[in-house]
Amino acid sequence: MSNLEFFKNQAKKFLKDWRTQTQTVESDDIVLNQYDSKFYDIQGLFLYYELDEKDEQDIKLSRAQHFIAQMVGFKKWDDLIHATDIELELAEFLLRRFKDAEQIMRWEELTGAPTITPDNAAELFEYAKYIYEMDERVKIPFLPSEQISVLSGKPRTAQLNEFDDVHSPNSQLRKDSYVFCPHCQKAFNFNQSKVIKENSTNRTMVVCKNFPSCKGMYIDYKVLSPTILYGPARQYELERGINDFPHLSMNKKIECLHCGDKYLYSETKVVIDPDDGEAWIHCKNYPNCSGNPLDFMDAE
Ligand SMILES: [Zn+2]
Ligand SMILES: [Zn+2]
Repeated sequence: MSNLEFFKNQAKKFLKDWRTQTQTVESDDIVLNQYDSKFYDIQGLFLYYELDEKDEQDIKLSRAQHFIAQMVGFKKWDDLIHATDIELELAEFLLRRFKDAEQIMRWEELTGAPTITPDNAAELFEYAKYIYEMDERVKIPFLPSEQISVLSGKPRTAQLNEFDDVHSPNSQLRKDSYVFCPHCQKAFNFNQSKVIKENSTNRTMVVCKNFPSCKGMYIDYKVLSPTILYGPARQYELERGINDFPHLSMNKKIECLHCGDKYLYSETKVVIDPDDGEAWIHCKNYPNCSGNPLDFMDAE
């Protein structure tokens, strides 16, 4: 089902707002356009799009349509008219949230302002849903206490278990991470975090163990303990290691000169250094052994 009607209506609303234009001449002969807008922040948007004086006075529906298309990532209105369903779904989702220039600016900064295409629309839509969902979740700790509950038992554990080796909502945090909350300046084990829920929506948020006196959230945490990577991220780094050290290969038996242990290269550990955020390959016996690829000898 096409939602083109939605965009046509929005272009009309944009035009309606644009038509509220009044001009005041400042003492230094500068003409100032002002708007009494109801739907869109015309003044802010035109400032963001750097419209000049003449352009700003050229008020037409076709131009309002162009702005609507441009705001959500199409080059022109005609591209919007001929877009696929998923492109239009994404565009509608964004436009419903893009009432002022700040919202557009943030989206363009986060994504690099890509033109919507059938190829990137689904991925961009997932990302858009994720960031707007997150906008709602970061409000939860600040809600009045009667609107939230602190989870315990299984529901709590289930949320913390999402921070696993493969699907951590924050790529560095793990259930067993040792973390620092910059709001209350306390360090603790991640699994001491509290999990709170907004009662009306069932949205949850993992918060500082000192909640409610501290409103820190997991996205604010700094991971203190080095993180050992697993899954595809680990595989990627191991392959990168082979590029850097051609004497290695995935099923090669190696000997670590540090601890003397012999094992396959594919058994080594990949560790994110908390100081520089870089991934490094370590001996299988990390953290007990500090061996690295320079210490790995051919064991055969
Ligand atoms: Zn805290
Ligand atoms: Zn070793």
